[in-house]
Amino acid sequence: MNVPLYRGRFAPSPTGLLHAGSLTTAVGSYLDARSQGGEWLLRIEDLDTPRQMPGAAAAILSTLEAFGFEWDGEVAYQSRRHARYDAALAQLITQADAYPCACTRQQIAATALRGADGYVYPGACRQGLPHGAAARAWRLRLPDERIAFVDALQGLYAQELLQDIGDFVLKRADGFWAYQLAVVIDDADQGISDVVRGADLLVSTPRQIALMQLLGLRVPRYCHLPLLLNASAEKLSKQTLAPAIRAEHAAAELALALARLGHQPPEPDMDLPALWQWALANWSRARVPAGPIVIACMT
Ligand code: GLU
Repeated sequence: MNVPLYRGRFAPSPTGLLHAGSLTTAVGSYLDARSQGGEWLLRIEDLDTPRQMPGAAAAILSTLEAFGFEWDGEVAYQSRRHARYDAALAQLITQADAYPCACTRQQIAATALRGADGYVYPGACRQGLPHGAAARAWRLRLPDERIAFVDALQGLYAQELLQDIGDFVLKRADGFWAYQLAVVIDDADQGISDVVRGADLLVSTPRQIALMQLLGLRVPRYCHLPLLLNASAEKLSKQTLAPAIRAEHAAAELALALARLGHQPPEPDMDLPALWQWALANWSRARVPAGPIVIACMT
């Protein structure tokens, strides 16, 4: 079998249209894969239906196409993969690595400390549900271990998961699958060797590694790209009203994304094919800044 040594992916959530931040992530992951002769897959992370914007998935795909991205194989949709997530949860339950939880948000907030990413679950249901209480969510029973990994751009990153994060949710009280579980199953099923994504997800990575270890899955290599922040130092997102990028300005937007990734195009006003050709020939992780980039004024 011809298994590529490098298989990357871009996994947008269709909660809004592509903006300068998500475009930069797409460009970085694409160039990192293609410049090494790797494959690049697309996955639409459409599990959280209430947060989705109707039409966003199709709009993201057509924008990527207009920019000249070429992906391998069929686009994967998380909304069609519930059976796989069910099977993973069943495996964790069988291994006694997952447990039901009856706690409400308010109960947790009343006693929990804040950790690396919100409240640290205090463990009330770890030894079993309180008498008469109904299960609401499923949580992972974390081993009391330090998870450390070396990110290609951010360097060594470690968490004492039980203290810094706490037993985290796999299936939410509202019935939706948690991102942490779905992403791990998808990266494994798609044979992803290199996860190149935004640095906002660095904090999630130890959780994903812990899950992969418990499920016996291969841990990919990680490279977390710099985040783009607006003038108020907020991550560009739909919530912070980041403007959508426009396909009519594709060459200018691509040139900007490349410059933000430390790859200033050699000439102004290069067209799309020339930009891609130059970027593919010149891509180097060593040129990419690790820290956040403040975008004062956006196109
Ligand atoms: N769907 C996530 C997002 O749009 C990305 C997940 C990932 O790359 O692991 O932020």
